[in-house]
Amino acid sequence: MSKIQLCDKYKCTQCMACVNACPKKCISMEDEGAGFHIPHINHDLCIECGSCVKACHRLSPISELNLPLKTLACWTKKDEDRRKSSSGGVFSVLARKVLSENGVVFGATMDSDLQVKHVYIDKLEDIVKLQGSKYVQSYLGDTYKQVRDALKQNKLVLFTGTPCQVAGLLTFLRIKYDNLLTCDFVCHGVPSQKAFDIFCERTKIKGSCDGVSFRFTAGWGYQLARLVKPFNKNMASSQNCVVRKVVHPRKAWYMKAFDKGLMFNEACFNCAYTLPQRVSDFTMADYWGLGAKIPFNYPTFKGVSMLLVNNQKSIDFISNCTDLFCEERPLEEAIEGNYNLSHSSKRPVGRDTFVLDMNTMPIRALLNKYGIKESLRDYLRLLKQWINSKRK
Ligand SMILES: Cc1cc2nc3c(=O)[nH]c(=O)nc-3n(C[C@H](O)[C@H](O)[C@H](O)COP(=O)(O)OP(=O)(O)OC[C@H]3O[C@@H](n4cnc5c(N)ncnc54)[C@H](O)[C@@H]3O)c2cc1C
Repeated sequence: MSKIQLCDKYKCTQCMACVNACPKKCISMEDEGAGFHIPHINHDLCIECGSCVKACHRLSPISELNLPLKTLACWTKKDEDRRKSSSGGVFSVLARKVLSENGVVFGATMDSDLQVKHVYIDKLEDIVKLQGSKYVQSYLGDTYKQVRDALKQNKLVLFTGTPCQVAGLLTFLRIKYDNLLTCDFVCHGVPSQKAFDIFCERTKIKGSCDGVSFRFTAGWGYQLARLVKPFNKNMASSQNCVVRKVVHPRKAWYMKAFDKGLMFNEACFNCAYTLPQRVSDFTMADYWGLGAKIPFNYPTFKGVSMLLVNNQKSIDFISNCTDLFCEERPLEEAIEGNYNLSHSSKRPVGRDTFVLDMNTMPIRALLNKYGIKESLRDYLRLLKQWINSKRK
């Protein structure tokens, strides 16, 4: 029996750095019940080399965190990108710049089976695959190895993901690469793919669309929408011509369960990265609280990103991004407006039962039990979004 001990369900963030670092391939990820997978060692194969422990950001934490040098309220000047993004589209600005320098960008996409996973892109027309927040745990597979390969080929690499996914990458790599840029986001927490699958099955979203948009941004909003490719011979293969069909608030309870943290990974409730000091070069978020104390004199209805620029390398990079409109703001404003920039999400009562109940309980009973029914506010929000979408 090997003496190596890996993370339990309270620590594991599913980054799979340990699996990828193991030279003997003796670690597998196994479902611990709620759709989250934790590492298991095959002790017959383990040689106790310790590579897995060294690669794990929870067991070998990163000591160097960056206190942001600049806090920006910003958005992309490309309106089309801003519309497809969740907040102001700052991700698309970073991605475009990296791709224009023949680099590669890693991030989360959703495939047509509604599975969320990390992929890389190296063409401008593929940015759309990564745009938009997917409120589901993204499967990393061997992404970290792919990042390492690209770095070794001297390509400029942008890796985007949750703070824990960035931390896992850094401990996996263990060497500092000048050609690596990392961008995380202020993270509320991640539900499992299993929870999302159950939701899609029960609301008959699965099979009725080619994708899901968690943030319907015609007028910066929060509404869940189905993405449908119109049947047209010439357009069928293009991701650019999808139609968004709003999911009726009565059926969009996944977002309420997300807000309440009912489906989060255990490790999210004790997150090591919900701090103003950041693990990444850049941190993006929604700019909640913008203008609360110091006025912000621009219209915000099309969506505004908050961008933390966390070291000199990222200041140098962003100063060459001419597609970005930005105004510098005090860091305190961003911290006060965005709870998860200084706190982990609280573990809600019902966290353990929700994922089981969502599978079997009649929907109305489920919504009543967990307080996630639609409300008048949801309809008002839809109306507001519709009005905003008509504004120029
Ligand atoms: C699970 C999750 C929780 C979040 N929680 C908060 C929060 O509490 N407060 C807040 O202000 N903002 C939060 N965000 C970030 C916010 O939704 C926007 O992504 C951010 O404001 C950037 O917006 P954008 O318009 O620039 O880019 P977008 O185009 O919306 O974002 C695309 C980028 O997000 C990455 N991404 C999308 N989904 C995932 C995923 N499942 N896993 C890893 N990376 C992903 C892509 O790789 C890409 O880099 C969260 C995002 C996610 C995915």
